[in-house]
Amino acid sequence: MTDRCYLDHAASTPPRPEAVAALRRRLDEPAANASAAHAAGQAVRTAVEEAREQVAEALNAHPGDIVFTSGGTEADNLAVKGLGWARIEDGARHLVVSAVEHPAVLDSARWLAAHEGLELTEVAPDPDGRVDPDRVLEAVRDDTALVSVMAANNVLGTVNDVAELGRRLRSRGVPLHTDAVQAFATQPVDVEAWQVDALSLSAHKFGGPQGVGVAYLRRGVPVVPVAHGGGQDRGVRSGTFAAALDAACGVAVERAVAERPGLGARLARLGDRLAAGLLQVDGVRRNGPADPGHRLPSHVHVAIDGVDGEALVFALDRAGLMVSAGSACHAGASERDHVLDAAGIEADAAVRLSLGWTTTEGDVDRALEVFTTVVERLRRDGAGGFLELEEVG
Ligand code: PLP
Repeated sequence: MTDRCYLDHAASTPPRPEAVAALRRRLDEPAANASAAHAAGQAVRTAVEEAREQVAEALNAHPGDIVFTSGGTEADNLAVKGLGWARIEDGARHLVVSAVEHPAVLDSARWLAAHEGLELTEVAPDPDGRVDPDRVLEAVRDDTALVSVMAANNVLGTVNDVAELGRRLRSRGVPLHTDAVQAFATQPVDVEAWQVDALSLSAHKFGGPQGVGVAYLRRGVPVVPVAHGGGQDRGVRSGTFAAALDAACGVAVERAVAERPGLGARLARLGDRLAAGLLQVDGVRRNGPADPGHRLPSHVHVAIDGVDGEALVFALDRAGLMVSAGSACHAGASERDHVLDAAGIEADAAVRLSLGWTTTEGDVDRALEVFTTVVERLRRDGAGGFLELEEVG
């Protein structure tokens, strides 16, 4: 296993040691329900509130705007459905999302359209996956409930101009949600500068544990709960606080922000070297924006001619390189990726290699060696040849 190489950090990146330590510490403390009035409960509650403050500070938000969730999917659902329902109560009849949103946003919006009779506009991106604020604004109507445009795309790594959208939507009085799940590890995220009303994060994308995320929901913007129960978090998110996960999330947020400038610069160097090496292989093209200012340093997405996509990812894995075909976050990844379709990207095969805080120069060397060998062998021998590929290197 030592020479296996993991370049799928956009799907999940390892938790940072500080976050793991915070998780363990909290689990070792006396257990109690954070909503209980007794001393043990209040100690657990203090841990949750400390984590909330850590997250709020990182986002330039008020702690009262932060709601802990089970991850990015729940945060997206809460924002889109919760804000959507509240706005329907005020007479809104229309939603605007980009066509390249994660299914947690896109399918929430489609569900609202199907079940609440809303009209839905899905704004197409440019060929690099960028969502043009002008096109979004053209779609907005007086009865638009909500706009949701992601800060950065999970498949192509394309970065959107959320601040421009926020400024223009605020003056129209239309709430803006942004999914910052992929952006947070390497991009500054500031809810005031962006003028967003709702924002989603997921801890396992920036060095926290799986199973915890954040919904920033600006106070004063009405939200209808998605799940009903004890109303623990601000009345919009019921369920016993997951104090250990929340504490680990708070610590991971702090570490991610402290290390972000260095990490961004390091991943840009590693990613450029990786991309340059991949492009040496015949019939390989890079997708997404060419300008590094418009893409995440962590994502390298390439199209490959003359090989079968599924066979390629399988063969790369057998040879020790773990990457993703499109986005690994939805089950059964074999169908065509909606992001590539929306951006009009045609390819025999496409893979996303994504880097994270544990990625080394050695990983890049290993990835290039495996990728080059596997693509050559698949082209020469077809899918049947990959059974020997475990021997690469
Ligand atoms: N939004 C984006 C952009 C993502 O990339 C993902 C997961 O990859 C999610 C939401 C869902 O996050 P989670 O896995 O925490 O539910």
